[in-house]
Amino acid sequence: MANDGPRERKPQKVVPSKAASTSNEKKKGSEVTFVPTPEARLKDLAADTHSHWEFGGPVGVTAMMTGFPCLMFYLWTCLWFYQGRFIRPESIEDIRPFLNRIGNHIYEDAYPTAFAFKMYLGLMAFQLIIAFLMPGKIQKGLPVPSLDYKTLTYRCNALYCCYFTLVVSSTLHLTGLFDLTQIIDHFGELMSVSMIVGFALSFLVYFGAIFFHWGGKPIRMSGWPVYDFFMGASLNPQIFNIDLKMWQEVRIPWVLLFHIAISAALKQYQTIGYVTPNLAFMVLATGLYLNACAKGEECIPQTIDMFYEKDGFMLTFWNFAGVPFTYSYSIVYLHRTDPSAYKLSTAAMTGVYCLLLLSYYIFDTAMSQKSNFRMELQNEFVPRDAFPQLPWRRVKNPKYIETKHGNKLLISGWWGFLRKPNYTADLIQSFTWGLCTGWSSPIAYYYVVWFTIVLMQRCSRDFAKCRAKYGEDWDRYCKAVPYTFIPGLF
Ligand code: NDP
Repeated sequence: MANDGPRERKPQKVVPSKAASTSNEKKKGSEVTFVPTPEARLKDLAADTHSHWEFGGPVGVTAMMTGFPCLMFYLWTCLWFYQGRFIRPESIEDIRPFLNRIGNHIYEDAYPTAFAFKMYLGLMAFQLIIAFLMPGKIQKGLPVPSLDYKTLTYRCNALYCCYFTLVVSSTLHLTGLFDLTQIIDHFGELMSVSMIVGFALSFLVYFGAIFFHWGGKPIRMSGWPVYDFFMGASLNPQIFNIDLKMWQEVRIPWVLLFHIAISAALKQYQTIGYVTPNLAFMVLATGLYLNACAKGEECIPQTIDMFYEKDGFMLTFWNFAGVPFTYSYSIVYLHRTDPSAYKLSTAAMTGVYCLLLLSYYIFDTAMSQKSNFRMELQNEFVPRDAFPQLPWRRVKNPKYIETKHGNKLLISGWWGFLRKPNYTADLIQSFTWGLCTGWSSPIAYYYVVWFTIVLMQRCSRDFAKCRAKYGEDWDRYCKAVPYTFIPGLF
């Protein structure tokens, strides 16, 4: 597998300086400037030009933008009022009363109140201020073709911000200034506010890009406003030198999701005098994910969301509303249902905890291996000590496939077994979020179902992009690493 093709190399030792000094990179003082080959320039230019519809084009994205908020309201109603059962009209005549019942639930328990706005906007303002003030590692992103291969710099202070947020929220709770259980009590209201904020910010970023080139020149524009609004217009909007996409990926969704879990656990403790292992599991699972995003923040500039995806409705709405208020369905189910309905045997619960920890380990180390490999090639690798630093997070003497484009594709570590080891591990994690609730509510499995669709779609878009970018070198890579998600099978 490793000896597949003449351009593949197995370096004796991959040290940053050696790895970075290929013919495609020039050293300027301490800066490495990527100089693409003419072929790579043409391919990157083609990749930045609209060529085909994604997500079903204008019709598909319109359906998603209208359907998704409706789905969120519907599933919230099922969980909040009907023990996680799918509800439906009893008959044709019942359709109107059924819709009225849902409307009343929304009006009474999910109205976007001033208090919910204060909580949500307060969190956003707080996260923006500390992102601006906190120290952090300066990380260079990948060369951006639409910025003539300039690399942007990112201040990675998410971990400090995250710990500081936890100190502040615990202090507020313990001093009685803000009871954290209010988050779960006002879940519906906060959900509605998050949707309003998601839409508002998407408009702001879109019109900012169109009229003021906020975040760079609009790229890959189709000419259909509704589609371009969904996909975004520019790549890198910033505010006070903070990259908006990177900030919104970690600081709001995962911080809020973790606090929703904490809030539900505190509420359960107040109500029944203990926290069930199921809800404690969700505190651990969301905490691990938040910590992983924060501690690996310097890996985020290497992800598709940062170097390829534009800042549009898809990312904005998803981060502000989708992640915190849909990935939390198992928490809401555990919060609203009597513990006797979801009690698992000790063996089953232990199994779910073990599966989470194992999949987390693979997810964390797979992401680190690829990112460290890429950073070493850019001469940007600096070891970090943020907790937890897991064994095999960095592959020594990695094997890779060298491409005509200039980039190198890792075929060692987890990346020697699968082309998407990070997706597989992430999917298993999302499955455990449902498993911890038992089998009583299908809605608790929403995350894994939705995430499977997202990652399959994302994977096919990514592979199409890589095939166009690397051509026959991508085929050699696929031959060297034949399986995508499950070794030997798929
Ligand atoms: P990847 O981390 O797999 O990044 C894909 C890119 O990495 C490719 O486009 C290519 O970029 C480069 N690449 C691919 N294979 C190799 C290789 N063998 N060696 C070196 N570089 C390679 O995908 P994502 O950015 O989509 O996802 C990052 C993580 O975020 C995943 O674990 C995913 O599960 C998670 N995620 C979580 C979400 C959630 O809601 N919980 C949502 C979306 C993602 P290039 O063109 O530079 O070669």
